[in-house]
Amino acid sequence: MLSNKFKPPARASEIRYVIREITLEAEKYEKTRGEKTISLNIGDPCKYDFSPPQHIVDAYIEALRSGKHYYSDSRGEYELREAVVEYERRKNGLSLSPDDVLITQGAAEAVNVILAAAFEPGDKLLVPSPTYPPYITAARFFGVEAAEYMCLENEDWIPDIDHMRRLIDSKTKAILVINPNNPTGAVYTPKIIRNIIDLAGEYNLYVISDEIYDLIVFDGQRKAPNTASLAKDVPVITIYSLSKAYLATGWRVGYMYKYDPNNLLDDLWAVFTRFLMTRLSANTPAQYAAKAALLGPQDNIKIVVDKLERRRDLVYRRFNEIDEIEARKPKGAFYIFPKINLNIDDNEFCKKLLWNTGIVVPPGSGFGSFGKQHFRVVFLPPEHILNEALDRIERFMKEIAK
Ligand code: PLP
Repeated sequence: MLSNKFKPPARASEIRYVIREITLEAEKYEKTRGEKTISLNIGDPCKYDFSPPQHIVDAYIEALRSGKHYYSDSRGEYELREAVVEYERRKNGLSLSPDDVLITQGAAEAVNVILAAAFEPGDKLLVPSPTYPPYITAARFFGVEAAEYMCLENEDWIPDIDHMRRLIDSKTKAILVINPNNPTGAVYTPKIIRNIIDLAGEYNLYVISDEIYDLIVFDGQRKAPNTASLAKDVPVITIYSLSKAYLATGWRVGYMYKYDPNNLLDDLWAVFTRFLMTRLSANTPAQYAAKAALLGPQDNIKIVVDKLERRRDLVYRRFNEIDEIEARKPKGAFYIFPKINLNIDDNEFCKKLLWNTGIVVPPGSGFGSFGKQHFRVVFLPPEHILNEALDRIERFMKEIAK
């Protein structure tokens, strides 16, 4: 009989996802307490009162009815890549070609492809901190150093350009920008983006720009600035997704495109293309729904943003009414990242919060070293749930501050 356990490789210890790890603790809570938790940890609008607009659901059904069951081209259906070109022209004034576009299984796949195929082990990628955690975990898994540049909480979490500069060395290849940002809800101005571009240009780096929340912006803004359209001669790889503004999280469709006026990214693009061949194709019918989303009516986005803005206002007000908590006002996305003004580790805080209140939130340190002493809250649920959660958090804070 075989008796040796099969051991995972050492690098597998890097595979972590803090946002979902707290869910395991929540499952334990539900089992032992026999009570439901209030989950404020996963950024999935479809788990709350949001769903994709009918015309894109119809396009998905139509794709199935008309027999689009096959593997698509590994780069994505040509029709969708053409639609992306048109969409990016309308939205950001870019002039791309379908060859500049690769369709992925959500932005998550683009993150993995880039980190797997664009860097040598030991290369350095500058990432914001706090950040969307898979950038750090994927980097570590592939032996890439994710050097965390500080975002300044006192200035609504904008990147510290001087810190960024200090992190650059001969191993540095690229700078990652997440705008609007997950988890802070920061939206960078064109000036900040230009400063980052200038820095990249000065050191011969390219920029990776995750813009998946670009249309979810508040206070009368229409969209967040697009890095590529400000980049002049600096190459940019933009990551986009149908998951957020188009509410199609489970369809797993997204894309990346390159803005590359001097053809400096050609070799990377060729490798990405080959890499995508190894996973055959993205979801074919969902690509037809994506085409309908990008080129069809856009009016649902304003409805979504207005609803989210009311929820943003509610959580922002209520968190700042709690003495031991301080939160900056998110300008985009659907997260708030409050600071815990108590002498307690954020991991311990989130566990205690769960076991005392049934509220599930991930600890800030899971979002990078500058996330410590914080936690992230998703403000997607309807107001009555948010109010109930905030009542419980408020009571809990009074208790532990005693
Ligand atoms: N990038 C950021 C900043 C995110 O917040 C997320 C998901 O929450 C993703 C990428 C991945 O999104 P998807 O794979 O659903 O497109």
